[in-house]
Amino acid sequence: MFKQGEGLYDMCLLGNDKVSEEGFMENLTTRFNTRNIYTYIGEQVVSVNPFCYLDMYSEATMDEYIGRAMYEVSPHIYALADDTYRELMSSKENQCVLITGESGAGKTEASKIFMQYIAYISSSSSMAGDIKDKLLKSNPILEAFGNATTLRNNNSSRFGKYMEIQFDYGGAPVGGRISQYLLEKSRVVTRGEGERSFHVFYQLLSQTGRLAALSLDADPSAYNYLACSGLYSVPGIRDAADFKEMENAMRVLGWAKADLDNCMRILAAILHLGNLDFEPDARASADLNTDCVAVSNPQLLAIVADLLQVDYGALESALKSRSISSGASARQSHIMVPLDLDQAYFTRDALCKGLYAALFEWVVDRINLNIQASASNASEVVIGVLDIYGFEIMELNSFEQFCINYCNEKLQQLFINKVLKSEQAEYAAEGIAWTEIDYFDNEPIISMIEGKGRAQPGIIPLLDEACLVGRNTPVTVVEKFAGSLSASAHFDATVGEPEEFVIDHYAGAVMYNTGSFLFKNKDTFFDDLVMALMTSANSMVVEMFTPKASAGGGGGRGRGGPSSSAGGSRFGSGRGRQGAGGGKTRPKTAGYKFKTSVCELIEKLDACTPHYIRCIKSNDEKRANYLDAERVRHQIVYLNLVETVRVRRAGFCNRQPYERFLWRYKMISPQTWPVWRGSPRDGVVAILDHIGVDRSEYELGRTKLFIKDAPTFMLVEQRRIEE
Ligand code: ADP
Ligand code: MG
Repeated sequence: MFKQGEGLYDMCLLGNDKVSEEGFMENLTTRFNTRNIYTYIGEQVVSVNPFCYLDMYSEATMDEYIGRAMYEVSPHIYALADDTYRELMSSKENQCVLITGESGAGKTEASKIFMQYIAYISSSSSMAGDIKDKLLKSNPILEAFGNATTLRNNNSSRFGKYMEIQFDYGGAPVGGRISQYLLEKSRVVTRGEGERSFHVFYQLLSQTGRLAALSLDADPSAYNYLACSGLYSVPGIRDAADFKEMENAMRVLGWAKADLDNCMRILAAILHLGNLDFEPDARASADLNTDCVAVSNPQLLAIVADLLQVDYGALESALKSRSISSGASARQSHIMVPLDLDQAYFTRDALCKGLYAALFEWVVDRINLNIQASASNASEVVIGVLDIYGFEIMELNSFEQFCINYCNEKLQQLFINKVLKSEQAEYAAEGIAWTEIDYFDNEPIISMIEGKGRAQPGIIPLLDEACLVGRNTPVTVVEKFAGSLSASAHFDATVGEPEEFVIDHYAGAVMYNTGSFLFKNKDTFFDDLVMALMTSANSMVVEMFTPKASAGGGGGRGRGGPSSSAGGSRFGSGRGRQGAGGGKTRPKTAGYKFKTSVCELIEKLDACTPHYIRCIKSNDEKRANYLDAERVRHQIVYLNLVETVRVRRAGFCNRQPYERFLWRYKMISPQTWPVWRGSPRDGVVAILDHIGVDRSEYELGRTKLFIKDAPTFMLVEQRRIEE
């Protein structure tokens, strides 16, 4: 199984002198060059993206992994998946898989490989077959609507996803739940040069048979919203075939044909809206004595109104003007205030982003309805798979990058807490001699971003404050940050333009441009637009913009509901939409909501038994079978991989309370079998002596046995023989 010249399958097997960046790199490179993209650090899988197809994901390969211990077969995500599933079944405790790595490192592929294996091996009931297929089929739909080509990755996830698979006590999947986090909706109207909008737009335009009914042209460059970044087709992405796959997936999930048609109408409306122009309206301006605009291409707006099945007049008015309520009484009167040219374009773009975000949420909600477990399966155990957008540095880093990178900091912190910190803390608590191993702790970066009350300001609360009080500009926002955070080693506002600041993240320094921070954080979606959309004769459009019944409304759906609209609101904080019936609540900002949902997620993950896949990007050119040593080394450093090996090696990776160990292994020694009358601790020692485990291989803590990997394998083997 482990061939000569292919390197070590587990980094923990590196010789003492080799546990270093060099040794790690050397082994990883040897393995990569022999097409072994997976390597273990104990139970963690390190994966290096090969950027080419490898023949190792078949059912025949999956068969090799079923029920085998991780060290028996060559490293693979299948082995980790097998382990996760078996641990779920034996412990009946929730499990989660944390897939980390920067954009393009292979997280989404890894999550799919993991899911495929789970679907393949988990027990089947007649209904399970159905559910498994549906869980897998959610992918093509989510990727069409939520993924896009970026400079980093041709198929980059532009939303965070946590997918939970629920199992019954027999181990058959009975349902699932997808939570999504902060879709990068600004991509609908603008993005960096050489990138694309969401795949689904290009997929739609490839369907020539559908276009006439939507008044669309097959040429994507005809649409401003697609033309603005100059990239239309991408090698390796087959938009037409992907559309068919999405269509098929919707069928499997049980969507009606009208559902897909409605989605396409909304997408078409967005493309047309991007071509909508405004011009100064001289007559109205003179009449009202202020700048007024008119729609330059009303026939286009008529198409949009028709596609969305909304009233033309209401839509036009919501794009040209804005109503302001006057009078504080319950019966307020509304005054229409005309918008100037800039404001009209701004409102148009806001409409498109809002429409798309609401559509995406509708899609996720819809999938959740299709895959949710029936009420009779309420008490299940869960495997959760986290595939979040990776750490990224763009040409221009805006609010989205700030949120994405903050989220990655949180995951890195979870990893540090679970793997490095708690491990070492436990040695101390159990009174085991231990030399502390140093690692980079990103806690100060997180505190700087989150802040804590008045005493400790942070970027998110400072930004909220800037959105709520005073007249702030991008420059004053940076000044505000600098005023409070300049003492932090991870913050710098002295470089770049006045509206830029730098955060020194765990994975590298990123310069953020606050140009649109304020308005993205406010996330306003004008009431007038919502009102106009609510006039729609299309029930799906109305549904998309109807405030969701809040948590607790839909019995049996768990806290927060399935799609939980984490991070992204449907409407943003439109004026006056909150706190119906008095009591003015402060509008919740996008940053606040994102932070809250990320913290909830972390809490949830923290309560599960974690499994880790750490993805490494081999190079920045998406080149097949090429490992850029410097890029890889950098990731090894910031992912704390060498420290992980150190802790793991020096450590006694396996630990068990004496009672549990004794109960599990007592059949191994005639001294302890069938009954042991001494203390559990002495019984454990008797077992270890019986199979000849060297004294240096274990430590006896106050309540637990700490034992290294190798003797553990022996024990597991011995137990199997005895059984
Ligand atoms: P991430 O989700 O981390 O941003 P992806 O999982 O989308 O990255 O991977 C980016 C691209 O890299 C994929 O589209 C695919 O071309 C390639 N890739 C990733 N993992 C593998 C793999 N295991 N084998 C072959 N190619 C891969
Ligand atoms: Mg991804």
